[in-house]
Amino acid sequence: MLACLSAGARFLRPIRVPAIRATDPPCLEPRAFMLIPSPDDRCSKHFHYRDFLFCGETQNRLDLPNTPTDPQTYEAIKALACEILDKVVDEFGDIELTFAFCSAELAKKIRKNPRPRIAPERDQHAGYEQNSCGKQICNRGGFAADFRHPSVPSDQLAHWVIGKCAFDRLYYYGSSHPLHVSTGPNHSRTVVLMQERDGRRVPRVIKEDQFNTLINADGL
Ligand SMILES: [Zn+2]
Repeated sequence: MLACLSAGARFLRPIRVPAIRATDPPCLEPRAFMLIPSPDDRCSKHFHYRDFLFCGETQNRLDLPNTPTDPQTYEAIKALACEILDKVVDEFGDIELTFAFCSAELAKKIRKNPRPRIAPERDQHAGYEQNSCGKQICNRGGFAADFRHPSVPSDQLAHWVIGKCAFDRLYYYGSSHPLHVSTGPNHSRTVVLMQERDGRRVPRVIKEDQFNTLINADGL
């Protein structure tokens, strides 16, 4: 198992430094740069970076490059994999990632779908990436992934994550829908029920200990 980052070093300093690939010549001053991992590199016990870069319906259909350019995004992917997803796999077995890293290019393509259901400025799927104006796409930082298990309903997964993991935001869409979970610098432990009303998803922020009661009462 790869060592996860210690709590104190979980997130990199909010400065931007030029990134080089591991294959670049070693003549560059090492302290001035941070390495960008390859998609094939392992980021945690059960996951490789590519698992987070090349998943989701639109990405699978279009096969876009969809690769982060900011080293902090890779660190954030690693943190989510180590702190939450590895633990879920250890407990329940393999999961399916249904949506994870979303570059500006992928977001543009998804927005062409009839019901895109993405919010890049809030959903943490862009990590620390910037838009074409040099502004961070999602100010929350951190990273999010959507996942489901082939036989364990998402309400059971959500209940377990809430009880056992250090998450930032958890969005619950229903027992048969993927669960959205993030880690991030705010560590806000925000739980949101996404209730469907008149064909639209309406967010409802709840207390952690209300989760089981509310999803049963609302038939989610
Ligand atoms: Zn999501």
